[in-house]
Amino acid sequence: MTGLAAGWDHRTRLQDHAGDTEHDVELLLAFLNTRDLELGTDVLDGEATWRAWVSERGLGRWGNPEQAREVRAALRCVLGDEHESGRPGTLGLIRVDLSSGVPLLATGDALGAVLAASARLAVLGSWERVKVCSAEGCGRAFFDRSRNRSRTWCSMQVCGNREKARNWRERARSVAAS
Ligand SMILES: [Zn+2]
Repeated sequence: MTGLAAGWDHRTRLQDHAGDTEHDVELLLAFLNTRDLELGTDVLDGEATWRAWVSERGLGRWGNPEQAREVRAALRCVLGDEHESGRPGTLGLIRVDLSSGVPLLATGDALGAVLAASARLAVLGSWERVKVCSAEGCGRAFFDRSRNRSRTWCSMQVCGNREKARNWRERARSVAAS
């Protein structure tokens, strides 16, 4: 537990991954998907589950789940999630640490780590690849790795096929009704 209380000086495990885009993507998606609409579960519903999520990833201080919900809602809102009523605004505080000779985003807590990951993805031009699945009732965040960034579903096998089947049924119904 050493260093956890050191605040800004505490180097979270995230900083060992500085420049590791895959790690940033994984962290951001995991955070956005702490709410699972299909299972009806939400890691942020309770302090215990949120704490477990943060310490599992070695992200330092956890802060309160209420604030985490606000950050998640704002991020999802920015990503165009229609089910989210968060307000995009200024979130959290991130410092720039020069002590290692390279500018690093320094964060002392879990939300800072998530926001730093988001900021790095934006700087690298990868933010547009972070998307929210548009299939009804899904809302899962995913990283679009397609060449032309054209994916709209988290998974073709599940949501893609389900949406196609739904559209087909709707078309069939409207044809039958006419
Ligand atoms: Zn989906």
